[in-house]
Amino acid sequence: AAKGAGRNRFSYFTPALQVAALNRMRLTNDLRSAIKGEQLKLYFQPIVDLKTGRVRKAEALLRWQHPQRGLVSPLEFIPLAESSGLIVDIGQWVFNESIRWVQRWRDVVDPDFQVSLNQSPVEFQREGGNYDVWLRALRQLGVPGQAIVVEITEGLLLDASTMVTDKLLQLRDGGIQVALDDFGTGYSSLSYLNKFDIDYLKIDRSFVSNLAPDSSDMALSEAIIVMAHKLGLHVIAEGVETAQQRDLLAAAGCDYAQGYLFDRPLPVEEFDALLTAQAGATI
Ligand code: C2E
Ligand code: MG
Ligand code: MG
Ligand code: MG
Repeated sequence: AAKGAGRNRFSYFTPALQVAALNRMRLTNDLRSAIKGEQLKLYFQPIVDLKTGRVRKAEALLRWQHPQRGLVSPLEFIPLAESSGLIVDIGQWVFNESIRWVQRWRDVVDPDFQVSLNQSPVEFQREGGNYDVWLRALRQLGVPGQAIVVEITEGLLLDASTMVTDKLLQLRDGGIQVALDDFGTGYSSLSYLNKFDIDYLKIDRSFVSNLAPDSSDMALSEAIIVMAHKLGLHVIAEGVETAQQRDLLAAAGCDYAQGYLFDRPLPVEEFDALLTAQAGATI
């Protein structure tokens, strides 16, 4: 029986890997047509100013409505986009959509409104690619770089090559701001907050979800906020789901928050309606 089980396990293992590989290949092919077939949708999650409760920014989050599989998570398809090179076209599409919308929101709602875009490490470090196309598109539309925040993760700064440094400088020269996403999940070395010019620090959801008065995550969050402010950065808390979390963060001096308490990522038309209603209410 043991021998049989062993053989079974062996013969089971190899096809499973092949199935997974085949699955990834199919999904990658589907992704190629998704870009052309308008299956990609950009959602926007409000980022709220904790002092006023107003929506001042939004994070652009990509969704893929697959014709057979339904909604595919970016956690699943971004890695495929990276390994296939499709990430370049996808990232450009996200950027183009975002600058059109942010221009409207700055005109109609708030002249300082910002849209935050995720750049994965592979996307940021891609060979040969720089941000010329972005900066040119901004100039052509007459949108200032300050309308855009680029979210990068700590890993990128950890082994920062001159290529990374140059691209960060190029973004900054164009007025684009930089946020450090998922702060607290990686090495969280404080030295590169000084070394690189970063505008926002995003406290990861894993800290926020355990916030309670006098908890160790509370102490850590407070320390991160104080430190960030001393270095001239603003702080955005991710994944705020309860009023208590919001209140604790506000009391600790956190500047902005996003999370299901305020809103989930919304289809752009819904987000637009929410923003224009907010603007109307204050006139
Ligand atoms: P992220 O940049 O850390 O984005 C925050 C994630 O937390 C989003 O997941 C958002 O929907 C989710 N979230 C927001 N508030 C809450 C909350 O209160 N509770 C919980 N449980 N979750 C919350 P999503 O949209 O599934 O995106 C996952 C990741 O995929 C993003 O993490 C980002 O790294 C990546 N991603 C999404 N869109 C893009 C894109 O356009 N380009 C690139 N390169 N990556 C993207
Ligand atoms: Mg992000
Ligand atoms: Mg994040
Ligand atoms: Mg996160």
